[in-house]
Amino acid sequence: MALEYANRMNYVKASEIRELLKLTEQPGIISFGGGFPAPELFPVNEMIEISKKVMEKNGAQALQYGPTEGYRPLREAIAKRMKKVQVDAVVEDILVTSGSQQGLDFAAKVFIDPGDYIIIEKPSYLGAINAFRAYEPNFIDIELEDDGMNMEQLEKALKENKKVKFIYVIPDFQNPSGKTWSIEKRKKLVELANKYDIAVVEDNPYGELRYEGELFPAIKHFDTEGRVIFLGTFSKIFCPGLRLGWIDAHPEVLRKFILLKQGADLQSSTISQIEVATFLNEYDIDAHIEKIKVVYKRRRDLMVGIMKEKFPKEVKYTIPEGGLFTWVTLPEHINTRDLAVKALEKQVAFVPGGSFYAYPGHENDMRLNYSAMPDDLIIEGMNRLADVINEALK
Ligand code: PMP
Repeated sequence: MALEYANRMNYVKASEIRELLKLTEQPGIISFGGGFPAPELFPVNEMIEISKKVMEKNGAQALQYGPTEGYRPLREAIAKRMKKVQVDAVVEDILVTSGSQQGLDFAAKVFIDPGDYIIIEKPSYLGAINAFRAYEPNFIDIELEDDGMNMEQLEKALKENKKVKFIYVIPDFQNPSGKTWSIEKRKKLVELANKYDIAVVEDNPYGELRYEGELFPAIKHFDTEGRVIFLGTFSKIFCPGLRLGWIDAHPEVLRKFILLKQGADLQSSTISQIEVATFLNEYDIDAHIEKIKVVYKRRRDLMVGIMKEKFPKEVKYTIPEGGLFTWVTLPEHINTRDLAVKALEKQVAFVPGGSFYAYPGHENDMRLNYSAMPDDLIIEGMNRLADVINEALK
């Protein structure tokens, strides 16, 4: 067989995390690899009640096709929730998507012709880099500092007048680095986007999972011209298996995404949408989020505590104020892909940092997730990982 595939398939790579997840399904592996929420926190009992109620009350509607834009009561509830990140939204601004991953795919499909440029953080979410690659863009990666992108580098890149179509950022507790943009840089980003007339894709799955201090306003909060496209999701504040996210954008921009959704999957699952709308309207999602935050904060403290105590001093790591990940930087001569093999021999998994860069040459970072494993396994796994790192640095 010699099937001839589209050119774009030359650019699409297997996600290293998805490959790794296959390995971590083996029994006995302590995985800091994936970005899984803690399954014991899923509101299973509430969902049993809700699914029964939905079937009894609106069974036929729940099993029927629905509008591409999404189930209206869910869109209304989402528009209201956008206030949490200080965004005024109306129902016409909201499109329900099949996870925010679909929003990422659509963003590139809406804006990118082969050879166009996307500006991303360095490092960035590998699921976005991979999704974008199918549309054959060039990437400009801008150094991610502790408080957001290096703004001088960003402006220099914009000034060069390449065909930059959008800037993609994850401003809160970034995947993979755990870093959060300062309010000043959020404002400045919008100013630059206005000046150079380009779009911003703000991917924000973790913003509400802040353990310390007040929630930050979204970048979209500072958007006066309708150029910021906000991607939200229920995956981390509720359950990823429902596959529900949303786009909040100016209706004129949103229209493009709606057209793509018609062609991609017509609509997101009607049942999932009615169930989530029921949860939002009749249960207390804020109380649920508070519960998640208590557990994740404790797990972050456990992980960071062991790093402080056991990791060699030359190893640096971020202490995120929320979200699911910490980012560890080892001395440059250490290759974390090799280290991952050694860790797997001790039944511990993490994702080598190289996968989170658009271009090769960054092999000494690793991403650690602390949300998915119970406390005792975090302690055990981190002690084993500390041994592996100490051995490698001897
Ligand atoms: N963006 C980022 C930054 C993520 O970390 C993830 C999930 N790991 C997604 C988007 C996709 O999430 P979902 O499709 O489940 O909403």
